[in-house]
Amino acid sequence: ALELTRRPWSLGSLRLSHRVVVGSMHTGLEVKDDGGAALARFYQERVEGGADLVITGGLAVNSEGRGGEDYAVLGQEADDARFRRAVAAVHEAGGAISAQLFHAGRYALTAGLTKPDGSPERSVAPSPVPWRAARGVVPVELTDEGVRRTIGDFASAAARAQELGFDAVEVMASEGYLVNQFCSPITNQRDDEWGGDAARRRRFPLEVLRAVRAAVGPAFPVSFRVSGDDLMPGSSTPDEVDALVTALVEAGVDGISVGVGWHESTVPTVQAAVPHGVWVPIAERLAGVVRATTRPEVAVIASNRLTDLRDVEDILSRGTVDAVALARPFLADPAIVAKSTSGRFDLVTTCIGCNQACIDRSIFGKPVSCLVNPRAARELEFPLVPSRRILRTAVVGAGPAGLSAALDLARRGNDVTVFEARENLGGQFDLAASIPGKEDYAGPVRSISAELELLGASIVTGTRVGAQELAAYDHVVVATGVSPRVLDLPGIDLPHVLSYEQALRGGVPDGTVAIIGAGGIGVDTAAFLVESGHEATRASQFVASVGLPSSATDASSAPQRRDATRPHPVRPGSQVTLVSRSGKFGSGLGVTSRWVAVGRLREAGVNFVGGVSYRSIRPGFLDVADESGDLVSLPADVVVVCAGQEPVAGLAASLAAAGIPHTVVGGALDARAVDAVRATTEGLEASRRV
Ligand code: SF4
Repeated sequence: ALELTRRPWSLGSLRLSHRVVVGSMHTGLEVKDDGGAALARFYQERVEGGADLVITGGLAVNSEGRGGEDYAVLGQEADDARFRRAVAAVHEAGGAISAQLFHAGRYALTAGLTKPDGSPERSVAPSPVPWRAARGVVPVELTDEGVRRTIGDFASAAARAQELGFDAVEVMASEGYLVNQFCSPITNQRDDEWGGDAARRRRFPLEVLRAVRAAVGPAFPVSFRVSGDDLMPGSSTPDEVDALVTALVEAGVDGISVGVGWHESTVPTVQAAVPHGVWVPIAERLAGVVRATTRPEVAVIASNRLTDLRDVEDILSRGTVDAVALARPFLADPAIVAKSTSGRFDLVTTCIGCNQACIDRSIFGKPVSCLVNPRAARELEFPLVPSRRILRTAVVGAGPAGLSAALDLARRGNDVTVFEARENLGGQFDLAASIPGKEDYAGPVRSISAELELLGASIVTGTRVGAQELAAYDHVVVATGVSPRVLDLPGIDLPHVLSYEQALRGGVPDGTVAIIGAGGIGVDTAAFLVESGHEATRASQFVASVGLPSSATDASSAPQRRDATRPHPVRPGSQVTLVSRSGKFGSGLGVTSRWVAVGRLREAGVNFVGGVSYRSIRPGFLDVADESGDLVSLPADVVVVCAGQEPVAGLAASLAAAGIPHTVVGGALDARAVDAVRATTEGLEASRRV
């Protein structure tokens, strides 16, 4: 399998055995006070799982370049010690590791922190252009001397990385960080030799490259992660990006890794709603630019919103880019390469693009993990070693919490039987997989059940069990999940009123629809009604809506491997009304996903009605009262209720009464704040307590 993916390639002098790179991910382990043990184990587990080249999370080249408190700084002894250990661990496992040289510039969330000398930290930038998320902090404009000092810091950091044993360095010049800020007319408003026209704006990256090259010598691999498209109105043009890439190549870079989009862009880049592979054509355009230089051998690496190595193989078959960097898929499954290259795609746990345990946490400086792999970045806490006592265990409920518990119990040698009342496994994941853009939610259900089978676990579907059937087990994990809450509302039992579960599983009859409740499930249900279940259709719509020139981004070349969601008619947004009591829409969704999901519905023309109280349902209408108490009748041939969930936890009481040891996890434990990250984490933790 994956013949092209398994072909060796070179990043400068570094020979690599296959074409999949572990892209840069900031985990927070970079500053964990354990001497680098957890960080080393995190990388090592990925290399043991088949990864070859790992790019670190951003390592700041100086204190003011830190993204926040949880960023390491190259050259600070405690941080260096952690990375010395991480490098050794990667090498011991047979891999290579590249240090990403990072400077956040105006994206530094360092207000209130201090420098090593005790003075207050400040963010610096080419020009004093603030970032909204930096809460009013205006970055200090770098003086000419400051610019030259910063270039020197890149060079010193590169030299330090080389001393620490890294095999390469990658300069972060994308995603709106400092180097990218110098390139863009939005953030570089200087009129000196570092700004004023495109040639002077790209002087900073070129001087960084020259300084880094001088520091590490001609044979040490140096790559640049460039921004293929900032996705910011008024920023660098494609011609300017091409000119930067040409100049970097001619100045001696060994690799061009192509990123896309700034953190403040209104165009989503990596959310589940973004079709797979949609950014690859931008990397392919830049590959064409590189091939037209005097150094066509320089490696070009595509990235962003790719999750499946079969898609990587398709991309490589086009003969454009040299390699593909994946980041989050290595959180979701550290062994994605080994499993895929041995043809066991069924065992790969796919990243579902939810961002809930990774980017949404990283933004707030919280420890990163993964919704579908709660061991991610916690490998030392949860080593994969046999259980102390091998037990006969039952897991009741095969939703996210139950599958997580069952997998960990089975991996550690326990005898596991999973009981699921429905015919389908997956619980809330199975429901989510019917939402356009969330098809990938079916992936972890498939992979975990395949692994359970491989490990000899029994999976019994379509069967409800009680204390009597569970009496012979040493321990029972109760993961029976949630059921939709039924509202106390006149007309709630009319035949045209559906729960969200009925709507998503059985479809919704034609006509106008009012959705009661505008949290995550309400928003998903609206998307189910108004968006196509076919990714190819959504990819074309996405490219058109983003305004990418079709010559630059050809949606038809995007990978098309995903299953379509269950067939359902797409109705005009104007027929759908999302009703919220609070006036908030999408509350409960993650910070990086909410604006995308709600924005898509607005674009589709969905009606938003907020700040109302529900009064009654009658044929053809949902009656609500507005803030002043006036009655408003909303057209509704169908009403779908998405007003929260109730725990399904009756089993726990009967197990307790029968004296059967058990642990309750996920929605069955607490349906109020039902959260899939909490559910899978509780599943794992319950397994370790058994
Ligand atoms: Fe992917 Fe979600 Fe895991 Fe992040 S938390 S790696 S987006 S599955």
